[in-house]
Order: sequence, then C-alpha cells, then structure tokens
Amino acid sequence: MQQAWRAALLRFDAHGQAVHDSDGLLVTQRDAAGVRRVVAAGSHATLAPQFAQVPVTHLPGRLIAPGFVDMHVHYPQLDVIGSPADGLLPWLEHYTFPHEARFADPAHAAEVAAFFCGELARHGVTTALTFCTSHPASVDALFTEAQTRGLRLIAGKCLQDRHSPDGVRDETGQSLIDTEALIKKWHGVDRLGYAITPRFAPTSTEAQLRGAGALAAQYPAVWIQSHVAENVDEIAWARALFPDSRSYLAIYADHGLMRRRAVYAHCIHFHDDDRALMRDTHTAAAVCPTSNLFLGSGFFDFAGPSACPSPTAWPATWAAAPASRPS
Ligand SMILES: [Zn+2]
Repeated sequence: MQQAWRAALLRFDAHGQAVHDSDGLLVTQRDAAGVRRVVAAGSHATLAPQFAQVPVTHLPGRLIAPGFVDMHVHYPQLDVIGSPADGLLPWLEHYTFPHEARFADPAHAAEVAAFFCGELARHGVTTALTFCTSHPASVDALFTEAQTRGLRLIAGKCLQDRHSPDGVRDETGQSLIDTEALIKKWHGVDRLGYAITPRFAPTSTEAQLRGAGALAAQYPAVWIQSHVAENVDEIAWARALFPDSRSYLAIYADHGLMRRRAVYAHCIHFHDDDRALMRDTHTAAAVCPTSNLFLGSGFFDFAGPSACPSPTAWPATWAAAPASRPS
C-alpha cells in the first residue's frame, strides 16, 4: 500500500543536485519484503494529481530529508566525547586507549554498539563510516547491531601494532588474519561494508601498513579509512617514523593505501602536492570540524585547491552496492 507525506522536502535529482521543495510530497510503498521504498518525491503541486488516491500525512513546518551520511566516527569513543586534553596525542593516551581496551569484552561492545546505533538513528544518520577498536569482537558487535536495524554501516577493526598500550595493541600477523576474516564475514552482507582501518601511521609498523595495503589490493571493493595531518605534533612524529616518505600523507600512498574508497579523516595540514595526491588517487577527505576545534588541531582549508575527488566520483563509488545508496 502506498503512503505519502507532505512537508518541505530536501532531495537529490537524477544528477545528484540538491533540490529543496518548500511544499513537497514524498510517496512510498512497501515492497514484497516489507521494506518501505520511495516511489516519488517532488513538489506537491506536480505530484498530487498523480497520487490523488494515496493517503497523505501533512506535516506543516517540518522538513523531510534523506538519511545523513557520517563519513568519520568512532563508536567506542562515545563515552569520552568532550574529555579535555592538550591535543590529540595526550587525548589518545589518557582517554581513548584506556577506554577502548574494554572492548575486548563482547558484552561491553554489544552494549555500546546498541547505544551508538540508537544515537545514529536519533540524529538522522542512516549511513556511517565507523572506527571500531583493535578487537575483532568490537566489529562483530557493531555489525550485528547494524544488521538488526537495517543500517548502512561501513566499519573496521583498528590496526595498531606499535605505540599503543597493552590492551589495545595488536600483533602484526594476527591483525591481518583478523582483518581478512572480518572482510569475508561481513563485507557485502546486507547493507554492511568493511573498511581496512589502520588507526594512523604512527601506530602501525611498516609491515602492518604493507599488509593492509596488500589486503586493499586483494579486496578492491572494501573501503580504507584512517587519519592524516590532524595535528602538528602528530605530523612530526609520523615524518620521523617514516623518513623515506615525502609527506605524512605519502606514507599511506607508499603502502598501497590510497585509492578509490579510501577515506582519510582531518587532512588539515596539507601542501599542494598532498592535495594532488588525494585527487590523483581518487581518495576522499572526511572533515571533522567539531573534533578539530575541540582539540585545537586547526581548520580544514575549504578555500584551497580541492582535497576531494570530483563530486561525480561519489556516485560511482557507491554504485557497486546499489541497495546501499542512502536515499
Ligand atoms: Zn577519528
């Protein structure tokens, strides 16, 4: 049975352009599986005659929008959001790592995963690219919860085999075995996708990054997510650890971790050749202004040369999983 809602409407046309209908109509219908799907969306004046028999719920003063897409979020960090620190590295050491160690416990991971998915829904987020912890159980917990709710979730186990305390540090060989097992278990299941997830270059050995790059080549349909160039101390540390790479960003390129479906968070302190590398490899930047302001990291250079692939690259990126395109 069809059902319609009349309200202001934010939608995207066939070319991916945003359209705002101040008086819009959204018409839906349940498919054979019981999933409600959009049949038509547009201005009320245009669509109303065509769907005159469909019951309409009128929501004056409201805006109906597609589900939001969160390009970068850590589900295990919900409880440490807003914890004060003198920058990124002390924040990781004092709050994040001790907290993430608890996710070795599947029951704890399941409890936080349920809360996290509830918060996503409450904020209108239907698709999220999400960091878990280094524990495979944290990935299983999140995907299990997301699957139950029909969420589009892309997530991965953090790879971090050095410069991490006991409890979150993983072991190089096992971390890669675990990553591949999680890819096979979850990638492409319902609306779920896997992301190979080196936490950031300083917490991975060269061998782990190389292994992650090999998996990225072997499984081109999976995503890659990590962090880059967030904080000046972090950049100096990364450069010292990988002196052969041209820049912090280039470390990832040198290990086969820049390609389509790779998404790097922050990208604040970039040079033009870094931006060119992003563009040439079709790698995407995820901008995190609240985190950057809170930790005093700096501002993303929106006005500079584009750090992102051209907008047309995104529909192609999503196209391999048609049922998953947020709509
Ligand atoms: Zn992050």
